[in-house]
Amino acid sequence: MEDVKKTGGISVQTEHIFPIIKKWLYSEKEIFLREIVSNACDAVTKLKRLVSLGQVHGIENDYRIDVIYSKKDQTLTVKDNGIGMTEEELDKYLCNIALSGALDFIQKYEGEGEDGGKNGIIGHFGLGFYSAFMVSDTVDVITRSYTGAPAVKWVCGEDGSYELSPDSREERGTSVVMHINESESDFVTEEKVREILQKYCSFIPVEIYFSTDEKAGEEPVNEVSPLWQKNSSDCTKEEYDEFYKKQFSDFKEPLFSIHLNADYPLNFKGILYFPKINTEYESLEGQIKLYYNQVFVSDNIKEIIPDYLLMLKGVLDCPELPLNVSRSYLQNNSYVTKVSQHIVKKIADKLNSLFNTEREYFEKIWNDIRIFVEYGSLRDRKFYDRVKNSVLFPTAEGGHISLGEYKEKHKELCEGKVYYANDKNAQAQYTELFRSQGIEVLLLDKVLDTQFISLIEQDDESVKFYRVDSGLDDSLKAEGEAKLSDKLKDCFKSVSGDEKLEVKAEMLKDESLPAVVNVSEESRRFGDMMKMYGGGESSLPVERTLILNMSCPTVEKLNALCENGRDVSLEAKQIYRLALLLGGGLDPASTKEFIDDSMKIMDKALSGND
Ligand code: ADP
Ligand code: MG
Repeated sequence: MEDVKKTGGISVQTEHIFPIIKKWLYSEKEIFLREIVSNACDAVTKLKRLVSLGQVHGIENDYRIDVIYSKKDQTLTVKDNGIGMTEEELDKYLCNIALSGALDFIQKYEGEGEDGGKNGIIGHFGLGFYSAFMVSDTVDVITRSYTGAPAVKWVCGEDGSYELSPDSREERGTSVVMHINESESDFVTEEKVREILQKYCSFIPVEIYFSTDEKAGEEPVNEVSPLWQKNSSDCTKEEYDEFYKKQFSDFKEPLFSIHLNADYPLNFKGILYFPKINTEYESLEGQIKLYYNQVFVSDNIKEIIPDYLLMLKGVLDCPELPLNVSRSYLQNNSYVTKVSQHIVKKIADKLNSLFNTEREYFEKIWNDIRIFVEYGSLRDRKFYDRVKNSVLFPTAEGGHISLGEYKEKHKELCEGKVYYANDKNAQAQYTELFRSQGIEVLLLDKVLDTQFISLIEQDDESVKFYRVDSGLDDSLKAEGEAKLSDKLKDCFKSVSGDEKLEVKAEMLKDESLPAVVNVSEESRRFGDMMKMYGGGESSLPVERTLILNMSCPTVEKLNALCENGRDVSLEAKQIYRLALLLGGGLDPASTKEFIDDSMKIMDKALSGND
C-alpha cells in the first residue's frame, strides 16, 4: 500500500497474547459484540459528556450506533458517531494492550459534572476491543475525532501486526469492521447477531440500528431508558408487570415488585419480582439478570446475591462491580456483601409493609411466598430477624395468623404453647378438640416447616410448638380426679401389644371421647428430622402415651367392671384402636381385626337383649 504511514506490531509480545485472548479471555464467544458495541456506546457517552461540560459546541443530538452485517462481504461493522480518535489516541489505546482509554478519560474528567464525571462509561470489561479477534481474522478501525483531526484507518491482523494509514472519512466517529474468520462464518449469522444484540444490548443507552445487505434498520433494537433507571414514583404497576412479562417470558403477573435504588456508595439500581408459582412442584429457580451501566453481563450470578434470592426474578444494574475480576474474588468482596445486605433489607421492608398495610392481599399471596420466607430465614438469620413479625401461619380453619397475634390471642389459655397439625385430615379430631376450647391450630404441613419452627423456638424461648397429638393442654381438662385401676391399666398395656406404651388417666371436658394417644413432640420431631436428613427412620422409638378419659361414662364403667374381675380385654382393645383411629388411622391388619371385633361386640350386645 502506497500511503501507509506507519507499520508496527502491538506491543507486549502479541504473538503470545493473541492466542490467549482468542481462546481463554472469555468463555463465551458471543460477548465480542457486546464489547465492540459498548465501546461505541462509550464513545457517544464521552462526547455527550464533553458537550454537557461545554467543552464542545455545535454537535447535533443525533447520536446512534449502527450494527451492519454483510453476508456477502462476510463483515460485521459497528459504527458510531461518538468521540472518535486521533491518530495519537488510536496508537495509544488500541496499539497497547491493557491501556484502557476509559480509565484515561475518567481520570482526566474526574470530579467534573454532577456525577463526578464517571457514571455511564462502560469500559473496564478487560481487553474488550481485542475480543473482536475471537471471530475475525482482520479488524479495520476507521475513525475521525470530534476535534476534526484527520481521519485514520487502522488494519490489524490476527497475529497483532497492523498498518496505519490516512482515510477520507468525513463524519465524526468510528467504524469497527470485523472481517469474519472463515471458520466462524457459521457462528456469525444474521440471526446470531440479532440474538446477541437482544441478549446483551437491549438496554444500552444509545440507540442501536441493525442492518443487513437487504434491509436497513429503521427502528432501534434497544430501549435506551429501561424501567429500572426511572424513579419508582414515575412507574406504574402496569409498567412493572409488563416489563416482567417481557423480560422473563412469563404470562403470569408477578405477585409484587420491589424497585431498588441505592445511592452512593452502593450505587446500584434494579427491580426484583416475586413470581407466582403455580404448584409446589414447579421449579423455584428464578432469574436475576445483572447489568453494568445497562449492558447485560450475566444471569448466572450465584456469587453476587444470597442463594435464597435466586428464587426471585429481576434485574440489577451495578456499575460499581469489578466484573473483570474472578468470581472467587467476588465471593469475598465487601461491596458484594453490602449489595446483598441492602437487597435483603429492601425485601424485608416490602414484606413488612404488605403485612402492615395490605394484609388481605398479603394473606392471599402468602402461600406463594411462604417457602421463600422460610428458606430465606433458615439461610440467613438476619433476614429472619427483619421479617419475623410479618411471618404468617395458615390455620387449620383456613385463615392466617402471625406468631405475635397467636401469642396475644391465647395469652391466658396457652402461655407460649403453639399448637399445630401437619396432616389436616389425619389430625382433624385432635384439632377439633383444641378448637372446641377456643384454641387455634396452625397447619404446618410443608417440607420446611419442621426446621422453621425449630428456628422460631431458638429465637424466642418463650415459644414452644406442639403437634395437636403430642399432649393435652390443661385447658382441655375438667375438674376432678381421674381414678384408674391398676388392673385396667395392665389390661390396656397387654392388648396394645406395645410394651413401652404408657397408660394414663385424665378427666377431659369432652365426655364423648374415650381415649387419645399422645406422641411425644420431641421424640417425634427427632424422628422427622432423621427422615429428612438421613433418609431413614430414627433408631429411637417414638414415645407414646394412651390417655384414658375417665369422664367418659363408658370408660368409667369399664374401669369398674375390670376392677370387679370381669374380662374386658375385647372392649379395651376396641377403645385402644378407637384412639389410634382418632390419631390418623390403623394399619390394614389392625383394621381387619377392628372390624371383626366390632362384629363380636355387636353380637354380644344383641345376644344380651335376647
Ligand atoms: P476499555 O473499553 O476498557 O477502555 P477496550 O479494549 O474495549 O477497553 O478499548 C480500548 C480503548 O480504545 C477505549 O478505551 C477507547 O479509548 C478506544 N476505543 C475503542 N473503541 C472506540 C470507539 N468506538 N470510539 C472511540 N474510541 C474507542
Ligand atoms: Mg471496552
